[in-house]
Amino acid sequence: MSAETTTRPYALVLTEVIAVERVSESFVRVRFGGADLDSFGTPGDVFDARIKIIFPPSPYAVPPIDRDADDWWGSYLAVPEEERGSMRTYSVRELRVSPEGTELVVDFVLHLQPGLTGPASLWASTAEVGQPVFIVGPRRGVPAELHGGAEFRPGAARSVLLAGDETAAPAIARILEDAPRDLRGSAFIEVPTASDILPIDAPAGVEVTWLPRAADALHGAALLPAVLSYLGDAHAAVEVRDIEGEDLLWETPVYSGLGETVAPVADAVADRYFWIAGESGVVTTLRRHLVKDLGIDRSQVAFMGYWRRGVAMRG
Ligand SMILES: Cc1cc2nc3c(=O)[nH]c(=O)nc-3n(C[C@H](O)[C@H](O)[C@H](O)COP(=O)(O)OP(=O)(O)OC[C@H]3O[C@@H](n4cnc5c(N)ncnc54)[C@H](O)[C@@H]3O)c2cc1C
Repeated sequence: MSAETTTRPYALVLTEVIAVERVSESFVRVRFGGADLDSFGTPGDVFDARIKIIFPPSPYAVPPIDRDADDWWGSYLAVPEEERGSMRTYSVRELRVSPEGTELVVDFVLHLQPGLTGPASLWASTAEVGQPVFIVGPRRGVPAELHGGAEFRPGAARSVLLAGDETAAPAIARILEDAPRDLRGSAFIEVPTASDILPIDAPAGVEVTWLPRAADALHGAALLPAVLSYLGDAHAAVEVRDIEGEDLLWETPVYSGLGETVAPVADAVADRYFWIAGESGVVTTLRRHLVKDLGIDRSQVAFMGYWRRGVAMRG
């Protein structure tokens, strides 16, 4: 491994939009290219690695960020706010390396209702070939333990349960496509409409269940009962409620955003690993049922709030 991969596990790359495709009612798929991407991501070892995308203040503006700086974050913050644009977190749907170069594919959820949209969704809804975009993500060849941006760590578990809403669909798809072909388990993915059911090349032993939400239903209305009844929770008919608060829940086997003590679970009991992501209130509700009602050891589960109803994300 080169010195750069250990001292700078992230790469800040300037990319260019090379294709835009409206793949369904709620998803727009954007392909990014450019020579910088040759230092970005490790094909086959992406899983749910998170990336940061910097949406410029106007479509063709390039904020003056120094991509060779050791501290990309400091360099970003040094740019005056009106030129900096907005940073949001996304997943890699696909990373393709060919003799022509590297292509990064991101699936953006379009949430365009007045008052409920944001700079990322707006950018995706009007993206055009040729637009420049800064992206931050794992440097090629850096393992997940060093870049720390991927959470899918099933360890010795022999089966998995993956669950999430449309914002987690790209990460679930990537996890299943990068996973060993003998992985077993189930994936539940809630999406706004039946048109949002997209192909995933999952291992044969993983059953993927898509859950289109009823029109006007809250996020979680389809996911919560499906996951809880699958796990045999007597309270599967749970009511979906708004949960107060702005913070995103982030509780994984190795990190607790709530400050709880994290103790690794013994391999003997870790026969199943859970990965749950999506709207933070929905993930919090699932956490309560899994940990309190079903007694699942919290160190077998990654619970991740990917977004929060009514709250604009920052950086
Ligand atoms: C690790 C990680 C991976 C992620 N991967 C993806 C991904 O691959 N694809 C993807 O589309 N998203 C993904 N997200 C979620 C995405 O970062 C958020 O949805 C983000 O808020 C979008 O930014 P925005 O500028 O559009 O809206 P913001 O400015 O952040 O929010 C504005 C308003 O929009 C609402 N809002 C935000 N997202 C949604 C939504 N999906 N549906 C309805 N209302 C919403 C907010 O509650 C708020 O009221 C990921 C998040 C994380 C943490």
